[in-house]
Order: sequence, then structure tokens, then C-alpha cells
Amino acid sequence: MVLDKPRQPLQLRDVPKPRPARGQLLVRVSACAVCRTDLHVVDGELPNPKLPLIPGHQIVGYVEEVGPEIPSSFGIRASSFAIGDRVGIPWLGWTDGECAYCRSNRENLCDNARFTGYTIDGGYAEFTVADARFCFPLPDRYNDVEVAPLLCAGLIGYRAYRKTGDARRLGIYGFGNAAHLIAQIALYEGRDLFVFTRPGDTATQQDAKKLGAVWAGGSDEMPPEKLDAAIIFASVGPLVPAALRAIAKGGTVVCGGIHMSDIPSFPYADLWEERSITSVANLTRRDGQEFLDLAPRVPVQTKTQTFPLEEANVALDRFRAGELTGTAVLTIGQ
Ligand SMILES: [Zn+2]
Ligand SMILES: [Zn+2]
Repeated sequence: MVLDKPRQPLQLRDVPKPRPARGQLLVRVSACAVCRTDLHVVDGELPNPKLPLIPGHQIVGYVEEVGPEIPSSFGIRASSFAIGDRVGIPWLGWTDGECAYCRSNRENLCDNARFTGYTIDGGYAEFTVADARFCFPLPDRYNDVEVAPLLCAGLIGYRAYRKTGDARRLGIYGFGNAAHLIAQIALYEGRDLFVFTRPGDTATQQDAKKLGAVWAGGSDEMPPEKLDAAIIFASVGPLVPAALRAIAKGGTVVCGGIHMSDIPSFPYADLWEERSITSVANLTRRDGQEFLDLAPRVPVQTKTQTFPLEEANVALDRFRAGELTGTAVLTIGQ
């Protein structure tokens, strides 16, 4: 499925089968979960996508061909996959390995990074190629559909969660896919969870309580006690000052999305006393390894709703309209 231009439906089209270059794997895609970022790309909210583009960056597939080896001076993982292996392909598709960020263990901020399904072709397709060093082996506990949403909602959610340090009282604004996965980890690690939904969305509040949240309410409400940290997964700027007012002295508000509407101004008093606001960008391979190691031990459960690849536009439309009951996962040849 190909995006020719933002704000147009994807086109179903036969494209030449990609060939793996040096250090790449050719992967036969089995499942690709849909992320909110895919919507931002398709809706033209992110600048300069590759065009035409095959979206999708939560890819599960099987190695069909291993490209020529890369020289050993470049890293070590190229030969760690063999034909037939199951691999996960995430958002971070390539980094230069040499900029100041890469050299200080912050490859998520690499100046020249390339992103799957945004600046390089992704997984809304039968085949894709990926740099082997950025692919993950996946835990056996999950089938292809179940594991797909872990690859972005899980990984980047996990990076946002780690930024909250050892916060005991953790707030989550927006209880979508990433929040649902990260809430399970927070509860497993003994945090007290406070969930904020759209005002009046009592069904989602009930779901959050069923999962184990100590409190769930609307984003216009204050929690019964001050929080040590909050993660905002909804792309709604006015939630930032709301979350600041809900946290205690020294607390942190982490913005977990790639795109957000403008943040309205707020009194300095809401930031005073060492409160901080930060954001999370992309992922490092280390985040991925840690999360994929932890997830099956919790075990983190995913909720999915499958669509055949050809119905990608239907999946995107339902996601945009808030009509999905789980993460949309496109299935290919299943
Ligand atoms: Zn770099
Ligand atoms: Zn994503």
C-alpha cells in the first residue's frame, strides 16, 4: 500500500520486490501494526516524508534473504539472523553511528537517522528490506499479530516510562495503545497508576480500573493525590499544563508522542519547585532489547484487531475516528 501524497488514501499497487543491500535483510512481512505516527504521516502532519512511501513501522516478518555482509568494522549484528528467522523491524531504521548523539548512546537523536515507514519504506507490503543491525529477535511467547504492537507503542512507550524514574504515583494521560502496554509494566513494577481519559469516557476509565489503576477520571479532573510523574500519550497540547498542575514538587511530565497540538501558556508557578517537562523522541536499540526482554515476563498483553493489508485505509480511517477496540494490525498472506 503506497502513499503518493499526504492527505490522500493509500494506493494498492504492485511494486518491484526490494533487494537487500549490504547489511540488509529481505523480510517477508507477516503482520504490521498501525501506529498513530502512521496517521500523522498520512495526514501530512510530519514534514518531508519519502514519497511515494510504503508506511508502517511495527513490522513482523521472516527473513527471506540475507544481503551481503557489511565489513566487520561496522557493528556486529549483520550475520545474527538467518533465512527463516522471525524478526521485528521498528521505527529506528538506520543511524550514522558517528555523530555526537550516536557516540554518546543517544542514537535516538542521531542527526542523520532514517525512520521506517517515514523516510524509508516500511511494512504495509508483502516484502521489505531492513538494516539487520536495527532488527530485533522477538519473544516466542507471542504470535506475529500479538507481538506487532510491542514494536512501537511498546518500545517508545517504554522509553517514556523509563523517563519517569522511580515515580511511585504515575499518571497517564490518554489511554490508547501505548498507555495500555505501559500501564501493565508500571503495575508489574508496583507503581500506583492514575489514568486520565477524555472527559466523560467512562468506558475507558472502567477498563483502566479493571487493569489495576487506583484511580481513573477525565483529563479535566485532579487526581485524589499529587503525582510524582505523568506521561502524556494523547497529542493534545492543553494536557501539558493540566498535567503540571497534577504533579508534586520535583515531578516530571513526559510527552510521549511525535506530534502535539500547541501548548497554551500557563503561570510560572505551575512549573516552579523543580517540576519539569520533557519529551521522548524515537528509540534506541537498547530500549528495544530491554523492553522485549521484560514484556514476556510481565507478561504484557496486547489487544489487536486485524485487517487484511488491502484494507489499510479502512484501518487508518477507523483509527482516526477512534473506532478501534484494539491496535489495528495489518495481516499479509495469513
Ligand atoms: Zn548519528
Ligand atoms: Zn510508532
